[in-house]
Amino acid sequence: MHQLLNSPSDVTVLKIPRKILDEMIAHARELDPYECCGLLAGVNGTVSHHYRITNTVAKDARAVEVFDGADVKQLGNLSDSTKAEVAYFMDPKEMLAAFKDMRQRNLELTVIYHSHTHSSAYPSTTDVGLAYYPDVAYLIISLEHKSAPDLRAYWIKDRLVSQAEFQPV
Ligand SMILES: [Zn+2]
Repeated sequence: MHQLLNSPSDVTVLKIPRKILDEMIAHARELDPYECCGLLAGVNGTVSHHYRITNTVAKDARAVEVFDGADVKQLGNLSDSTKAEVAYFMDPKEMLAAFKDMRQRNLELTVIYHSHTHSSAYPSTTDVGLAYYPDVAYLIISLEHKSAPDLRAYWIKDRLVSQAEFQPV
């Protein structure tokens, strides 16, 4: 369906342990209706490590519910549709800690994932605009059909989206 463009030449099919695929689905279900996010790292396209990252938007969105918006300036004033558009933002400190751990283990950032709780497993316009890593696959876990999570991965380079293949190992 999607033509494979600009994928890193030495990686044809990413390998992701089933255990990590299950962990990502569990993470998505835990945060539903908010989006989850995280990073996968490995060597040469074979994933070995999973880092859950706090979605600060989900945290703030919960704060909006708890505090009735009074103390939440940033997200409290956004419309629901805008909130959905900026539905995940990875905690920068946790990202740095994950990158440091990857360096220490000689691992490469391989996959950046997040969930879509009400839409298909395809990158939104915002997702494409925020995709800064052309050599990293973007994986989306769709919970549009709650009992049948759909996981798909993409390369996003210069705003061009192409399917990234992965296989459970
Ligand atoms: Zn998205």
